[in-house]
Amino acid sequence: VKPVYLALLHHPVRDRAGEIITTAVTNLDVHDIARSARAYDLAGYFLVTPIEAQAQLIERILEHWRSGAGARRVPERAEALRLCRTAPSLGVVVRQVEREAGEAPKVLVTSARAVSEASPLEPAQARALFDRAPAILVFGTGHGLAPEVLAGADGALAPIRRHASYNHLSVRAAVAITLDRLFGDGVGDGVVAGRV
Ligand code: SAM
Repeated sequence: VKPVYLALLHHPVRDRAGEIITTAVTNLDVHDIARSARAYDLAGYFLVTPIEAQAQLIERILEHWRSGAGARRVPERAEALRLCRTAPSLGVVVRQVEREAGEAPKVLVTSARAVSEASPLEPAQARALFDRAPAILVFGTGHGLAPEVLAGADGALAPIRRHASYNHLSVRAAVAITLDRLFGDGVGDGVVAGRV
């Protein structure tokens, strides 16, 4: 299995009206998604924002919990937060993963709605892809990933509860459910992401 990474985009994402915006970083998204990424053995978690001051804010949070007083008090949180990195754009994440993994990653996007006419990837299809290439699972903030991100991806994971009348999950819930479908206990003969 090749390494699987996660990226949380704060830009470019949509607002309620469909305009492209940059969202503010949420403390909970740093901690909760890092824990999920660690629990499912992902190779890294990128928090993507083009705003330098926001990246610095994340770095300060990470510093406190990774090596400051917080790390001594809650070591398991420090362990999860070691996976976190900031990046200014998804393009930079792709190049960084390519350097680390030694080959170009597949970019897989997520959305509550169908992304295109093309069939979305079911978990088993995504796992088959992880055998062949490194991958980045991309999640959105605000009202979801911008159309250009969705259109530029190598594939889209099938929406969770896609036929339900309501399926707008928090991104933290969507990440946890997605990772459990892909790498959960008893799924795919114990496949683990990242740790090779
Ligand atoms: N402000 C919200 C929050 O605090 O979580 C952000 C909502 S954001 C649009 C939610 C992100 O979670 C989406 O961009 C997508 O990555 C993912 N997501 C939400 N519902 C989903 C679903 N039903 N299936 C797959 N992914 C979903």
